[in-house]
Amino acid sequence: MVKKILKFGGTSVGTIERIKHVANIIRKEHVSGNQIIAVVSAMSGKTNELIELSKEISEKFEKRELDVLLSTGEQVTSALLCGALIKLKIKARSWLNWQIPILTEGEHSNSRIVNMNVSKINEFIKDGIAIVPGFQGISKNGDVTTIGRGGSDATAVAIAKLFDADACEIYTDVDGVFSSDPNNVPVAKKIDKISYEEMLELSSLGAKVMQSSAVQTAMIYDIPIEVRSTFTDRKGTRIFDQQNIDYTKSVTGVAYSKDDAKITIIGVEDKPGVAANIFEPLNEAQINVDMVIQNISSDQRTTDITFTVKRNDLSKTTEILKKNKKVKFNKITNNDKVAKVSIVGAGMVSTPGVTFKMFKGLAEEKINILAISTSEIKLSVIIDEPNTLKAVKKLHTIFNLD
Ligand code: ADP
Ligand code: ASP
Ligand code: MG
Repeated sequence: MVKKILKFGGTSVGTIERIKHVANIIRKEHVSGNQIIAVVSAMSGKTNELIELSKEISEKFEKRELDVLLSTGEQVTSALLCGALIKLKIKARSWLNWQIPILTEGEHSNSRIVNMNVSKINEFIKDGIAIVPGFQGISKNGDVTTIGRGGSDATAVAIAKLFDADACEIYTDVDGVFSSDPNNVPVAKKIDKISYEEMLELSSLGAKVMQSSAVQTAMIYDIPIEVRSTFTDRKGTRIFDQQNIDYTKSVTGVAYSKDDAKITIIGVEDKPGVAANIFEPLNEAQINVDMVIQNISSDQRTTDITFTVKRNDLSKTTEILKKNKKVKFNKITNNDKVAKVSIVGAGMVSTPGVTFKMFKGLAEEKINILAISTSEIKLSVIIDEPNTLKAVKKLHTIFNLD
């Protein structure tokens, strides 16, 4: 008997009709003899709707209460899906996060699952379907917590690990992982198999088809994942260990995100220790700095430093810089209408000229590069936001992904 974790995302359970369709997918798996734990997201748009409601009460809605509020989205879907299965005469039961319990650590809205009681559910799935709400848990103190946007993927992978499952399938609204977002790059192709490392880069750089912390957990514990469509029977994408890396391709995918902002500090003193003085208070405030560029000083006394942070950290960052007595500068400018476009591929390591090809392609489209960052298997640039899709499509073409 095979134990499977099936996760259904927001669009897959977005209407009552779709929930009934998902119940049928689960029924088929059940009658073919598999033990099933289904993990569900909130109906599409629900989590955003709840966030908006909280803002109508207060822009600084209490974090503990926000988690109580947001966790309800997945609870609604769990009960509805369970009802749909019972209607099909299948034994099914849903659990709330604290009833299992799903134990988490970390701060509200950004917790992580550390443990779960498996005995009740393991007993139940011998002849029934267990339904678990994604994206949430309960802390040591008994508070309801959520685990970050897109977190139902992470719930599914954590359950696959803790229940020692044989398979973890992520059902979504596209056929699998593509060489770029198929909804915006129609020529993108489905990838049949991809390594954890490449998927982790793609997810962290904006391919939201898999949440990055879910991929990270899968990579650490070697939990193979299949991403597939709720709406077609086509084979999906298998994400697994690095023996699946396709070294013949220099680039596997092109990802992009629009959640960065760029800050430039003009006329900073050019002497040892200045960079440390700038970034120390940002580190203390837990602001993650991504790319950093320092110009060569033309007058030997002052220089300009440019760096990027997450867009929602922008105002906090500029506030901290302005208050920083240890650093003297002329002025600070910022730009939050930027996008990060990245190419990812394990084959990059062994292919010379990838950087040149990327820069040349962007130059041909007259797209200005504002910042660059590289790692062994990815190359990212910051560009003006309106150029995003033009850049993504160009890179997709020149790296033979169309
Ligand atoms: P779910 O609600 O099922 O979790 P998400 O909306 O979180 O689904 O993720 C699926 C979406 O991810 C797709 O509809 C697609 O627009 C987007 N996406 C972005 N990049 C990629 C990619 N490289 N491959 C597939 N989908 C992608
Ligand atoms: N409902 C949550 C979100 O929209 C979690 C998820 O769908 O994975 O972020
Ligand atoms: Mg998702």
